[in-house]
Amino acid sequence: MIITIDGPAGSGKSTVAKLLAQRLNVRFLDTGAMYRAIALAVLQSGQEESDAQSVAWIAHDAEIRFDDETILLNGESVAAEIRTPEVTAISSVVAANPDVRTRLVELQRAVGHQGSLVTEGRDQGSVVFPDAEFKFFVTASVDARARRRHRELIAGGSSLTLATVRTQLQQRDARDENREHAPMKPAADAVIMDTSNMSIVQVVDAVATLVEQ
Ligand code: C5P
Repeated sequence: MIITIDGPAGSGKSTVAKLLAQRLNVRFLDTGAMYRAIALAVLQSGQEESDAQSVAWIAHDAEIRFDDETILLNGESVAAEIRTPEVTAISSVVAANPDVRTRLVELQRAVGHQGSLVTEGRDQGSVVFPDAEFKFFVTASVDARARRRHRELIAGGSSLTLATVRTQLQQRDARDENREHAPMKPAADAVIMDTSNMSIVQVVDAVATLVEQ
């Protein structure tokens, strides 16, 4: 059984997907972490994120694996490194590269072939797993999402203002929605949930109830 949870940054989809996977006792795949790992490899290489050919080669050569849900880039855990503002800023540029997407979609489908999975991202229901049994698109107002992301960043020691977080979020959404290849959008058969006024527990309960029925 494949369950896809797509949606924009700050929608709560990662937390919901992780908790749902635990509740159903199936694996969880964070595909955003994979795009972030390629973005990190690009930063480490010193190449420009806009240099499509170099980025394609970097993605081709990078070895990405998960060890117990910890992401490994070329054998090294990069769980913390992929969450820096620098990586976040270029992740959506790198994710617009069609060669990067082809490579990561292949890896994601390979994980799907290994058994039941809750997978989250932007294109999991629309492109990667079109035959998934359950598809959700989790969204929330830009204000609600910016507040959530700001709270997380502050808790992690960042001093970014709410206004900056909101602007960066909107820039990333715009790039993700308007790219040519696999733009962020709900699959035609996805259940769309607006979580602006819902707690994470409420969202997980709502999603799990639909799946368990
Ligand atoms: O979800 P997260 O914020 O970690 O994703 C980082 C970036 O990776 C997104 O802004 C998006 O550009 C890209 N992404 C994507 N397709 C996915 C998952 C993430 O394009 N399935």
